[in-house]
Formats: sequence, C-alpha cells, structure tokens
Amino acid sequence: MITGDRFNRRALLRGAGLTMMGAAAGLLGASEIPHHPPLGGGYASAADTPSAIARSSVTVRYFVSTSAPVVALTFDDGPGPNWTPRFLDVLEEAGVPATFFMVGRNVRAHGGLVRDRLAGHEVGNHSWAHHDLATMDLGAVRDDLWRTHQMIQGELGRTPTLMRPPYGHLGGSTVLAADSLGYDVILWDRQMHERRFRRDPGGQAKDIADSVRPGSIVLSHDVGDPRRLIALDALPGIIAGLKERGYGFATVSDLIASAPAGSSPENRG
Ligand SMILES: [Zn+2]
Repeated sequence: MITGDRFNRRALLRGAGLTMMGAAAGLLGASEIPHHPPLGGGYASAADTPSAIARSSVTVRYFVSTSAPVVALTFDDGPGPNWTPRFLDVLEEAGVPATFFMVGRNVRAHGGLVRDRLAGHEVGNHSWAHHDLATMDLGAVRDDLWRTHQMIQGELGRTPTLMRPPYGHLGGSTVLAADSLGYDVILWDRQMHERRFRRDPGGQAKDIADSVRPGSIVLSHDVGDPRRLIALDALPGIIAGLKERGYGFATVSDLIASAPAGSSPENRG
C-alpha cells in the first residue's frame, strides 16, 4: 500500500495513467527530494507527454495479489554461456517454470544456447545492454526496448509482454515506452542475497523459502558476478523448500492470469 502525506506518489502516478499494484516501494524522505527537480518535461516525466500514452494504464507489479500458494522465480541479465544452461538444467529436473528477463545483446550472442530449452518458461525484456533506462529519454528507451523485443522474437521465436528495467530504475520515459510497446512492468518483492549468503546456499534457500508469500516474484540472476552463482547452488534447495511448504511455481504471466479478478489492492475499497 502506498501512502504518504509528504509526497503522494500514488496520486502522481495515477495522473500519469500508471497503476501501482501491490507496491512495496519506499517513499523518499523530504530531505532526499532534490530541491530543484526538473520541471516541464525531461526524461523523468511520465506526465508531460500525453500524446505518447497509448493505453490508459501501465501496470507495475512487485508481486501478484493472490491467496494461492504460487510464486514466480525470475532470472535476469542472460542468456549467458556458462550459467544459463545450468539454471535450465535445475529447473527442468524439478519441472519448474521460470521467467527470464533477457538482455538483447546477450540474446544476440547466446540465444542459440537456450532457444530450444525455453518451453514452459517465459521470456521478458530487460533492455538491450543493461543501461539505466531512467537516464534516457522516451525515444531512446523505446528504441532500446524495441530492438530487444525484435531480437527476442527473431532469435527465440517468443513475443515478450513484460519488461523489467535494469536496477529497478523506473523513470517516466520507461513508463511511457512500456506503454507504447504494450508492456507491463515487473519488479520483485523477494530477492537472492548473494553477499549475505556468499558461501551458504542452504541459508539462501531457507531465506527465500521462509520469506516468500503467495504471489511473490523472486529476483535472481543467471549472469554476472561469480558471487551470483549462489543462486544456482541454492536453487535446488529453494525449490525443495518451497514445495515442502506447499508452494507451486508459475511464470509471471501465468501467475498474473491465475490471480482472481478483483484481488488487487486497487479494488479493495
Ligand atoms: Zn539486470
């Protein structure tokens, strides 16, 4: 639930045609708000380019509001030659679907490695080169996401409908670009802690299994700093721990589709 007396972000976002669902974002403290934020447009604005708004809303989800014990595992930044096939091995062995938010240039370089292994999994758009989209204007973000979209379609034969901004940085231009390309935005409400559980895959697995809730979207990475391999080492334990606790798994889109209508906080009066 977003509330705030000093800075009502929800109202601002609604004004831009953006719906925040199940939002867990913190609000800026008054002392953190720049004294002179850019006014009258600029890359941060989601409100000053009404002609760019294609639909009436873009949905931003941190999790899916549902009482069903189902979670979505998500893996960012791939595909990569060393780890991604190993993640796919574990998921395949366990019969667990997942969502991969892929980087366009990595799809171009390594798409062939995973092309035939994505049945049952979802592919999302994670930008072309993992630049901070929140520093780019609308045209640049749209070009970036579209280039990635086309690469995913061409290399993998999949049409993504979800995007995740690198670093979770969500500027107004990204909201508008997502809108114009028909994307909804997916963030996360749980994540791997590679530093804390550096040599403790069991601890990482327990942390995730103990902390998820129905509808959680779990962030991890299948490319990057070797520290992130903890996600791979922990994955069998995470899956087993969640199954023990009665959880099932779905792609993000299936998780959204399975949630009962009217379950979102928006509709709770
Ligand atoms: Zn990323």
